[in-house]
Amino acid sequence: MVQRNTWQRERVREALADSRGFVSAQSLHAALREDNTGIGLATVYRTLAGLAAQGEADSLQSPDGESLYRACASPGHHHHLICRSCGLTVEIAATDVEQWAHRTAATHGFTEAEHVVDIFGLCSACTQARVGERDAG
Ligand SMILES: [Zn+2]
Ligand SMILES: [Zn+2]
Ligand SMILES: [Zn+2]
Repeated sequence: MVQRNTWQRERVREALADSRGFVSAQSLHAALREDNTGIGLATVYRTLAGLAAQGEADSLQSPDGESLYRACASPGHHHHLICRSCGLTVEIAATDVEQWAHRTAATHGFTEAEHVVDIFGLCSACTQARVGERDAG
């Protein structure tokens, strides 16, 4: 195990914890650059992938196919509601989904089934802002 980049890893982890929702490697790198950390984009990519692989961060694909990361409060399996406008993220349990996924996999003879279910939409604040814009216009 190479320990020489530990401080970079810690800085990336802190920046991720400071983010309110899911962020891409690019936007996290931009935030780190404002702090003049000197951490390169490749390091941010590698560190985020490492944190996700070790279960220290959640990762998912945006509808655009971009990899997004977040330091979630829930350590266990959970799902997300993500505002595509402001990035607000809510961690949700989805018992119905767990049962459906388990049943569907079992029906087809699958075991050790895993799934990723995340919902992208507009949060209530962003929805109201849109309605306000429409009424004003
Ligand atoms: Zn999460
Ligand atoms: Zn929003
Ligand atoms: Zn689930």
